[in-house]
Amino acid sequence: MTLRTILLAIFTTIASVAYTQITALVGGTLIDGFGGTPIQNSVILIENERITAVGRLGELKIPDGANIISTEGQSVLPGLWDMHVHLMINGHADYAHWDTTYAPIIESIIMPSSAHQLLMAGVTSARDLGGPLEASLNVRDRINAGEIPGPTMYMSGPFIQHAPYPGTENFRWGVDGVDDARAKVARLADAGVDCIKMIDQDQMTMEEVEAVVDEAHKHGLTVVAHSHRPEEIRRGLQAGVDCFEHTGLATAPEYPEDVLTMIKERTAQMNLGPLFWTPTVEGLYNYEYVRDNPEKLDGDKWHLGLPDYVVEDIRKSFSHPGRLPYFQITPSRRPTLQRKVEQLIEAGVVLLIGTDSGIPMKFHIQSTWNELDVWVNEFGIDPMYALKAATYWPSVLMGVDHDFGTISEGKFADIIAVDGDVLRYISLLQDVDFVMKKGKVVKAPNTGKS
Ligand SMILES: [Zn+2]
Repeated sequence: MTLRTILLAIFTTIASVAYTQITALVGGTLIDGFGGTPIQNSVILIENERITAVGRLGELKIPDGANIISTEGQSVLPGLWDMHVHLMINGHADYAHWDTTYAPIIESIIMPSSAHQLLMAGVTSARDLGGPLEASLNVRDRINAGEIPGPTMYMSGPFIQHAPYPGTENFRWGVDGVDDARAKVARLADAGVDCIKMIDQDQMTMEEVEAVVDEAHKHGLTVVAHSHRPEEIRRGLQAGVDCFEHTGLATAPEYPEDVLTMIKERTAQMNLGPLFWTPTVEGLYNYEYVRDNPEKLDGDKWHLGLPDYVVEDIRKSFSHPGRLPYFQITPSRRPTLQRKVEQLIEAGVVLLIGTDSGIPMKFHIQSTWNELDVWVNEFGIDPMYALKAATYWPSVLMGVDHDFGTISEGKFADIIAVDGDVLRYISLLQDVDFVMKKGKVVKAPNTGKS
């Protein structure tokens, strides 16, 4: 060894010792994401970005010199996932106006603002299902590089569909024939998207649908598809879609028998893994409530990252919440939501938490907890099931459960905490007290960080 390599070795050792910072989250009730009994008086040790040990006070030794953060009195859980967000929109009621007016600042301001809001709501990972390709990937990568705050994002880029609606060509790609379908998917995959979003597949030929799914799978990407109409579900199942979104645009009270039979055929096949479904019910379920109790629209949390003129424009767009065309049919759809969610659970799908956040009057800073609240407090779903649908299962679907989704040894330290018992009062999640992303505290009382 030369003197230079020896010095370098010494320096590297000193540097790594100096930069190994151990943090201990101590005292709270830990819900680890796997769905088992919570751990009382928990201790979580974190070294730099990762969790190194999980245990109980008195059993797991807290190393001397650790930076201790008390979680006494709190529920401690993995950072939430929202599996259906739209960073490119933020509550404005007129999409045509929004798309044309704000296209120039979508990447620089709108998407970063949405991402920041999600993170402050305790969402440390999110799947974005539909946006302009370059902007989607750039915002994701800037977050990952630590340049701007936000969740770890999984981006689909443009929707794949039969034909884009007029004026939406920037984020909706039409496919014309099998070769074109494969080429478009390959282009998205090569650009680096994390999944493929397909909609209106009942308007595509069956060969095109199969080509989209097959090409995506060849590139190691999951396919996420709308399930607004029964024929979309039939074709999606036939082609091997991995995850369905929504429960349907119309007022039909429940899924037809043949669709349920097909779903059960699929969920009976263990070798294919779970069939995932993100029902996105809260925006619809809560519409009439928000219309009649609009006080929260006047709050300013959703202004985070948005210039005043944008905030004003958004506010103006829903000055008459009861008149929005988007929601006129919603009261008739509302009673169908619970029935369909129950049918899906009975048919064996694994439900995921996702919100469609960004739709009219729904802001990224407040949507995710609402979905959990509707599942638990309106539909009677077990809170542990709901939390697992917002932590463990999303990480499995995205193929990153070795790094994310639970509070266990070796995972990135994506951790949130709320005062009180979140299993008894799920709506405590509307005010997440503590957010840690990859070992860094990004929100905490008294840190001034928000
Ligand atoms: Zn959506």
